[in-house]
Amino acid sequence: MASQLAASGWTVRVHERSTEVREIGAGIALGQNGVDAMRRLGAFERAIDGGVKVAYWSIEDQWQRTLHSEWLSTELYSIPRSSLQHALHVRARDLGVEVQTDSAVVGTREGRLLLEGGEELEADLVVGADGVNSRVRNSFVARGIRVKRLDLKVAGLRALIPRGPEDPTDHMLEWLAGKRRVGLLPLDGDRTAIYMFCPPQDARGRRIPVDVESWAESYPSLRSAFERVPHDSTWRDVVEIHCDTWVDGNVALLGDAAFGMAPNLGQGGCTALQAALSLSAKVADAADIPASLREWEGEERPHVDYVQKWSGRYSRMCSKTPGPALPVRSRVFGVLARSEKLNERFAGVEARLIDAQ
Ligand SMILES: Cc1cc2nc3c(=O)[nH]c(=O)nc-3n(C[C@H](O)[C@H](O)[C@H](O)COP(=O)(O)OP(=O)(O)OC[C@H]3O[C@@H](n4cnc5c(N)ncnc54)[C@H](O)[C@@H]3O)c2cc1C
Repeated sequence: MASQLAASGWTVRVHERSTEVREIGAGIALGQNGVDAMRRLGAFERAIDGGVKVAYWSIEDQWQRTLHSEWLSTELYSIPRSSLQHALHVRARDLGVEVQTDSAVVGTREGRLLLEGGEELEADLVVGADGVNSRVRNSFVARGIRVKRLDLKVAGLRALIPRGPEDPTDHMLEWLAGKRRVGLLPLDGDRTAIYMFCPPQDARGRRIPVDVESWAESYPSLRSAFERVPHDSTWRDVVEIHCDTWVDGNVALLGDAAFGMAPNLGQGGCTALQAALSLSAKVADAADIPASLREWEGEERPHVDYVQKWSGRYSRMCSKTPGPALPVRSRVFGVLARSEKLNERFAGVEARLIDAQ
């Protein structure tokens, strides 16, 4: 977003509260919309550094039944988060975006950005892309805009682990067992990315260091992967963010700040990238920024809402289905994964950037 606006001749400043642009994190799946966004930004090659193109993905249940598997006809990359962040940062810097670190935002007032030190900055456009605990969003709430923070009652852990001999090299695998869920994402070189989810009340499931015995009871074949999870990993509660509107005058919310979603379809970051590009295209030459922001929200929202809704449903099916209903869940998963209607709609969401402009 910052890069695109800078490329259109805007003067752009990013305020980042951390003391440096930290290139950290585990792995992330970049679906077709994320891939297209990064290509359009001219940052794709850097973003996939250390990642691999995923050829195939599958989901298995606790009875080792494959609920769905697919050779992919669209592009999907499994990449280190650090590469994505680095690529975005380098591109922004090359295009003249000023990145001010150690600069915490506390909110907005009448379209001006408020910084922690008390500074108040004028801007034609303010974008709050400050994550799921957004301070910019708090200013929306203070102005009477309704925001719902929905605790999905599931905790997630993601980490990079040393590659084991049985880890996937070009496919993404996910396993369901009871209310737990685990996935492995292949990376280039000597690492694999893992994600694990369980309900917050699953005390053994949420232990750190990971309770290998407990997780291996759910997934015997993944014991070695659990043994490799770093001891400083953390569990985070998963929340959904629902805002009545993402736009207030010349201020817009973007990404997790606006539409934080369950990380079940690998789309939180991708939809944020997609929405960022459409936002910058919409406002680049606009005479009336608030009107163009409203138009952007009107066009983008149905797609984002759809992805958020299904990510949430997937999350609930994984973390809330009671034991006796698990066989039914397996059947439902298979049916949903094969649903032409759902697949077409998702393909439509992912193809939006190709169609745009
Ligand atoms: C387990 C898990 C797996 C996931 N897997 C995927 C996946 O495979 N594919 C995918 O597309 N998405 C995935 N996601 C979702 C994705 O991580 C998020 O949707 C994405 O990171 C959101 O980006 P963002 O820029 O909106 O927020 P963030 O990534 O949270 O970035 C917010 C930035 O704002 C800064 N900031 C925060 N507060 C302030 C402040 N007050 N002042 C100044 N700066 C501030 C932060 O330091 C940070 O740099 C996953 C999420 C989880 C939890």
